[in-house]
Amino acid sequence: MVIIDPAHGGSDIGIRLSDKEYEKNITLAISLALKKELEKLGNIRVQMTRVSDKLVSFSERKKIATSTQGELLVSVHINAGFGKNSTGYEIYYAGFRDAQTAQSNSKEILKDMARNKYLNDSIRLAQLIQKNMDNIFPRKSRGIRDAAIPVLEGLSIPAVIVEIGFATHPEDRKKLMDVKTQNTIAHALYQSIKDFY
Ligand SMILES: [Zn+2]
Repeated sequence: MVIIDPAHGGSDIGIRLSDKEYEKNITLAISLALKKELEKLGNIRVQMTRVSDKLVSFSERKKIATSTQGELLVSVHINAGFGKNSTGYEIYYAGFRDAQTAQSNSKEILKDMARNKYLNDSIRLAQLIQKNMDNIFPRKSRGIRDAAIPVLEGLSIPAVIVEIGFATHPEDRKKLMDVKTQNTIAHALYQSIKDFY
């Protein structure tokens, strides 16, 4: 069971790419294309955190992921920079911070081992996405980053956020608004999830 999370929605439009095009629409379009491809495989089930243009809170998204027993979560976003120069894609996972402060009793150690397992899996998935996205945006990877991410916090499954490009960069923006490129990005994510399993 794979959870696909198209970021934003409804009154939360995300980043504005043009008068008519917002982050929320593009993340949904890519997510729906990804769902379609994954379901063709036949052995992967897909749960979306939203399938239409509606507002869904972080806690509702998490509830969907846990109640459907999702085993993997991919969240799709678009980036924005302060200037026009930032370009490319980056991948985030919810990091190791908590593990470092954990207690040393056996219960905590077991919990840490489970946690390390899904953190390692998150990084492995992130690396696969990085590799497959590089085919579309050669040498445009900005790396895999560890960050505190509200939608991923407290989830005990491998989970990543993909910031697919910069709305503030003219070339990135053109690509992000192009339906063909959106489908290519969806395919790269599909390939990564397939490779992961
Ligand atoms: Zn976003």
